[in-house]
Amino acid sequence: MRRKLAAGNWKMNGIGIDLEQLDRLMELHPNPTVDLMICPPATLIHPMAAKTSEHPIHIGGQDCHTNEKGAHTGDISAVMLDDAGARAVILGHSERRADHGETDAVVASKSVAALEIGLTAVICIGETLEERESGKTLDVVGEQLAGSTPDIANGGNTVIAYEPVWAIGTGKIPTLEQIAEVHNFIRAELEKRFGEDGKAFRVLYGGSVKPSNAAEIFAIDNVDGALVGGASLKADDFSGIITALE
Ligand code: PGA
Repeated sequence: MRRKLAAGNWKMNGIGIDLEQLDRLMELHPNPTVDLMICPPATLIHPMAAKTSEHPIHIGGQDCHTNEKGAHTGDISAVMLDDAGARAVILGHSERRADHGETDAVVASKSVAALEIGLTAVICIGETLEERESGKTLDVVGEQLAGSTPDIANGGNTVIAYEPVWAIGTGKIPTLEQIAEVHNFIRAELEKRFGEDGKAFRVLYGGSVKPSNAAEIFAIDNVDGALVGGASLKADDFSGIITALE
């Protein structure tokens, strides 16, 4: 019942010439049987959205402000993302939580701004290595999930991405049992809070997903796809992950 989703997070990577990676991806997957998303830096949202008007891939942002407009130098609002052609936005990525001090409450407010304009919110949560090693993973993930997901979220408009901070960009991934434990926990928490609709949220795994480890991760119950950083930058790598999901 939940459609699988492969989402690419380009982070602060990508200039005009990299639009050819999007062309290549569309060429490799003209009729994908899973949902696809690329979240490039803001400067590429408009050209990418224009290129994908005839293809089911969605383009997304990597952050938005809580306000629609105003005196916030350097920020981008959800309304602006929508106006540029974005259909989604990643919120509360651990790099933003670390670099910009984003708290769960901030992430929840940004999610409200995104959902109100009709963008899909991709809300990121995940523990640090220290938290994992001290046995606090489920407490941390539970607290971030509860605090970052607003009441207006539902299975149709919101995606949860479980990304252990220590697995991002490091080549390390949790064991398959550890991934299963956290995804089952997130599912149970969503059902507790949102009832039957808790079953409809897609829950992605993120952190060092590659073509070589994607299939075993996707075989885990309650893993509905992946949020992919490094391996989404090259169409041929991302394609291997998409194929594993299809
Ligand atoms: P990675 O990043 O795939 O490069 O580990 C994932 C992410 O930060 O979303």
